[in-house]
Amino acid sequence: MEKSRTSKETVGAYAVQCGRCSKWRLIPSREEYETIRESFIEDPWFCDKNPEVSCDDPGDIEYDTSRLWVIDKPNAPKTPPNTTRSLSLRKNLSRTDVTYVMPNGKRVRSTVEVEKFLETYPEYKDQFSVSNFSFATPKILEDMVPGNSAGSNKKRRTETEK
Ligand SMILES: [Zn+2]
Repeated sequence: MEKSRTSKETVGAYAVQCGRCSKWRLIPSREEYETIRESFIEDPWFCDKNPEVSCDDPGDIEYDTSRLWVIDKPNAPKTPPNTTRSLSLRKNLSRTDVTYVMPNGKRVRSTVEVEKFLETYPEYKDQFSVSNFSFATPKILEDMVPGNSAGSNKKRRTETEK
């Protein structure tokens, strides 16, 4: 669970789906999740990568409608150091928008904006390049789980939540 609260919906949990048994396993941190995601096509995830579980154990989390599931594109690059990648969901759930907050607090929402950012602040050119950013919008799952995907899910915001 992410502790920070924003006015938008927050990511409640990160999960990956086992390529063998199709169960969903929770991944404890964003960093770990992004490491798995980064090479997901060449190196799919299986339950036995976690020494504490096997495909015989029940899944950590069920795909259901109590959460909104957002499926990332496999092999999206890791979020560069000192930047934050956030997803915001349009009200009608039609799509998600990807925003990166740069180390200096500037926000970028597209590859073109990253290029402009690097032109304006060339001091960041040795830290990252356009290829470190992925604006491919994750897919919002309505009612089915595709085979073998990695995904994060967003908890629906409720009024009672602190
Ligand atoms: Zn499994």
